[in-house]
Amino acid sequence: MHYSGELKKKAKRLIGLFGGSFDPIHNGHLQIAAAAQEQLLINEIFFIPAAIPPHKQHITLTEANHRLRMVQLSVEDNSDFKACDLEIRRSGVSYTIDTLTYFRHNYNLTCDQLHFIIGADGLVNFHKWLEPEKILQCCQVVVYNRAGVDLEAVNENIKKKVFFLNAPLIDISSTTIRNKIRSGESLNEFMPERVVDYILSNGLYI
Ligand code: ATP
Repeated sequence: MHYSGELKKKAKRLIGLFGGSFDPIHNGHLQIAAAAQEQLLINEIFFIPAAIPPHKQHITLTEANHRLRMVQLSVEDNSDFKACDLEIRRSGVSYTIDTLTYFRHNYNLTCDQLHFIIGADGLVNFHKWLEPEKILQCCQVVVYNRAGVDLEAVNENIKKKVFFLNAPLIDISSTTIRNKIRSGESLNEFMPERVVDYILSNGLYI
């Protein structure tokens, strides 16, 4: 059987990488990944909790294994979503360029197969990331808009190279969830039930 070039291109496996503190993971993260998957026809999305996010080096995060476990619990029903412990195993500051390089070489991917998903707040500081130009060259950066984020100051050259998802704003953050836990509010509308149970049974964020 002969495949046309177009079919071959479509058959290429598209990969999404979604990095974050995930402290804790919330439904917003899952919605962002789902929107990226749907709009870009991504086959598989790896959720990658950072060991130490470069922009949060002065902040004490919840122990990495708890953050990873919550990600695992969130994605276990979805065979296209994977929890990835790469940055936690690598330890040290988790630079995106190192993670992209790892995926390109170890999964034998070309740049057009790799997508790196970020929220718009990440785009505002993107020029301060390690090797931003190289990141833009070796993957498609995919941006989800975020409430209260002004993209006016973002360099036009960066804006031209990223893909903006067309999706509704999601009014949720890990910070507000941590605050809700401390004030004893219900978490069920913000994250999968298994994650709520995990947080409560391990006494996290109190
Ligand atoms: P925190 O409140 O602790 O800073 P967060 O909710 O921003 O956490 P992170 O784990 O830091 O969650 O985010 C991982 C990625 O998801 C980041 O690129 C962030 O911009 C994006 N993100 C998280 N929540 C949203 C949201 N509601 N809308 C758009 N992007 C989001």
